[in-house]
Amino acid sequence: MAKALTEEQNLVVASMKELMSRENWDDYFKECDNEHKFPERFCKALAELGIHQIINPVEYGGLEEDAMVTFVAAWEEVLRLGGNAASIWFSTTYPVLFREGTEEQKKLGEELMATGLTKIGNAATEPGAGSDLGSMKTNYTRKGGKVYLNGQKTFCTDATYSDYIIVTALDAETMSQYTNWLVPTNAPGVTISGLEKLGLKTNSAGEIYLDNVEVDEKDMLGAEGAGFSMQKDDFNVERIISGLYCYGYALCAFEDAAKYANQRIQFGEAIGRTELIQLKLADMKTKLTNMKHMVYTGAEMVDAGTLDKGYAAMCKYYCVTAAQEVTDDALQVLAGVGICGDHRASRAWRDIRASRVSGGTDEMMILTLGRSVLKEYRS
Ligand SMILES: Cc1cc2nc3c(=O)[nH]c(=O)nc-3n(C[C@H](O)[C@H](O)[C@H](O)COP(=O)(O)OP(=O)(O)OC[C@H]3O[C@@H](n4cnc5c(N)ncnc54)[C@H](O)[C@@H]3O)c2cc1C
Repeated sequence: MAKALTEEQNLVVASMKELMSRENWDDYFKECDNEHKFPERFCKALAELGIHQIINPVEYGGLEEDAMVTFVAAWEEVLRLGGNAASIWFSTTYPVLFREGTEEQKKLGEELMATGLTKIGNAATEPGAGSDLGSMKTNYTRKGGKVYLNGQKTFCTDATYSDYIIVTALDAETMSQYTNWLVPTNAPGVTISGLEKLGLKTNSAGEIYLDNVEVDEKDMLGAEGAGFSMQKDDFNVERIISGLYCYGYALCAFEDAAKYANQRIQFGEAIGRTELIQLKLADMKTKLTNMKHMVYTGAEMVDAGTLDKGYAAMCKYYCVTAAQEVTDDALQVLAGVGICGDHRASRAWRDIRASRVSGGTDEMMILTLGRSVLKEYRS
């Protein structure tokens, strides 16, 4: 498992702890959750501490060494102390812009990231193309020196308040190559509507309609035809981040439940003295220890450049499902207090559920991991 954190990493963790103790953030998160608002004030505070930049390329504020482990340690502390993770996905959107973008796009990325707010969304999924993204229909056509996008995207995180979306589209002429375009959300022909969803109320989910949206060649992000390949490593990193996010939320719910088990008296003794509650705490602790190991090992692989898609899928699949079990057990220990009154453990329980679908479903993770095992043992 994970090496001990360095002195610098411990300082980063300490700064996250200090941020979390600055005020009663939970009241603010409740308000954002109830009003379906992106937690701007909190995300700006995180931005000031540089958390979003940690895994950027070095010339864009990223760390030279152990960047992903530092990122994991920072977010682990934020989440453990009840932090909202609405902005954790910045870290998978911006690096691709800094790596693949033109100088103009990189400059734009810096300006947008400096706001600390969600300004760029990803739009790949379509009503007819979910797990099977290869069947997408959104396309681009060239005419008179311009490029025109047509199609429909769905379930896109933060699309309703982003300034730009990265749209993956198919070349209408060849119907074979997928290319990414950086599209302003206020461009004529773009319509975005919000979707209701289970949990994750501080991030929006958007349906995007593209009706003859005119863009320029300079709005292409990365090389033509590299629509999926240029992000394949990012998808793997995103899966480690999904694991981290679920682990962190589950850790917070567990700590709340463990403290409560010591305090809550029923039948004349603390509920934690009963074997049934101890069994839950023991199960939770075991799963959290496994999750931590998988996430930190995945982070070390990212830093060493050795992360493979089998490990990334395994990490996401295990952490998401284990985190769901842990938060469920935490709610059982907290009982009425957890179910009623907008407890953060209940928000964690509800929010984790989406991760079994977003960023690749459980089933896709299993298939990816299964294929990777077979490949490893092919003679
Ligand atoms: C909260 C949230 C945020 C999201 N954010 C974004 C975003 O920002 N940008 C974006 O582009 N997309 C986003 N998505 C979309 C997400 O990537 C898709 O929902 C996901 O890939 C699954 O697609 P689908 O919902 O169409 O399900 P489908 O692919 O239709 O799958 C339905 C069910 O069938 C199973 N299934 C499908 N094929 C197989 C198979 N071959 N074998 C076994 N089982 C199979 C699936 O696992 C699932 O259980 C988001 C989704 C959610 C829920």
